[in-house]
Amino acid sequence: MINYSIDMSRSKSNSEAGLNLAEVKASIKQSVETQRQELEELSLRIHSNPELAMAEVKASGWLGDYLERHGFRVERGFCELATAFRATYGKGKPVIAFLAEYDALPGLGHGCGHNLIAASSVGAGVAGRVAVDRLGGCLQVIGTPAEEGLGGKVLLAQRGAFSDVDAAMLVHPGTRDTAVIQSLGCAILDVEFWGKAAHAAARPEQGINALEAMILAFNAINSLRQHIKDRARIHGIITDGGQAANIVPAHSAGNFMVRALEEGYLEELKAKVLSCFQGAALATGTRLDYRWAEVSYAPMRANKALAEVFARNMESLGRRVEPFDPERSMGSTDMGNVSQLVPAIHPSIAIAPVAVSNHSPEFAAAAASEAGQKGLLDAASALAMTAAELLGQPESLAKVKEEFLQSA
Ligand SMILES: [Zn+2]
Ligand SMILES: [Zn+2]
Repeated sequence: MINYSIDMSRSKSNSEAGLNLAEVKASIKQSVETQRQELEELSLRIHSNPELAMAEVKASGWLGDYLERHGFRVERGFCELATAFRATYGKGKPVIAFLAEYDALPGLGHGCGHNLIAASSVGAGVAGRVAVDRLGGCLQVIGTPAEEGLGGKVLLAQRGAFSDVDAAMLVHPGTRDTAVIQSLGCAILDVEFWGKAAHAAARPEQGINALEAMILAFNAINSLRQHIKDRARIHGIITDGGQAANIVPAHSAGNFMVRALEEGYLEELKAKVLSCFQGAALATGTRLDYRWAEVSYAPMRANKALAEVFARNMESLGRRVEPFDPERSMGSTDMGNVSQLVPAIHPSIAIAPVAVSNHSPEFAAAAASEAGQKGLLDAASALAMTAAELLGQPESLAKVKEEFLQSA
């Protein structure tokens, strides 16, 4: 379908773009170096002012200000989320988006290092301006609140935030340099059992024990766990187990997460987990109330073609990107939902030894360490250079899109 003359003009523009691209990448590295002090200061300021999901008022404000100061048009309160924003540089297509997370964890501060994601994505945006100036297209930095539990990106996706985006990326701090990660789909369930209070010693026969229903449900789930697929996870906590040992508990409540690598299996598993609660209600004579959270996290569909471009750029900075390992441990991320809509990657950059776990005080310390700062600068450069390739080499973006369509 492509005629010869179009082919010729493409190859000519590609070789010119190739020349430009090398210069563009050199200026990107230069820009990140120039921004070094400001980016480090920004990430440390967010680190020492941890804000929980949907309350990231200071962080989103500082990030928006930074981008505005560097020539981005900033829409605050984006998609009716007070602490989301979209910052745009350039116009037209293609649109490459860097996503910024900045929420902290209860009791742990920046134990997931989102301060570094925030600073690396705005740094990449500012450094990437040269690519837009020289190669055309558009860069966005989208501020995505509430990654930890409330699924800010799920809401943004539902409200069309990514509808004009051609590719989306962010770099998450971790203990390894990788370009491809897997993540589990995750559904969140709240349950309550309603029974009847009675004196636990004098009139136990008059009571209906809501705590026993919860314990029975836990045991049913433990039995189920022997017969589920690898990589699936079911875990929960009891948030109400009664008021006093001498009162038969009339009410119990719990919060559970059900996770799986494929969305189809997640649905199957959700039904089985729900049966555990329904069976426990039947056995104890309690009434069950349950609610699946509206926001559920989709599994990550990492775009391998995009990951390859990213890995090459990361390695050009002197880091060795580890090959994809399907056995590696994983959690869930709302980037999964973005990756179902547009080509996306969620690479990780090493800021701590492999033994250190995310969501720990040690990881929070690493997020403010020298290794953390180095990670943020390298992530910013690699992101911006990857975007430059997508803007400057139409065939790279075509390959990324082709893979996305094939894997749908
Ligand atoms: Zn986390
Ligand atoms: Zn995280």
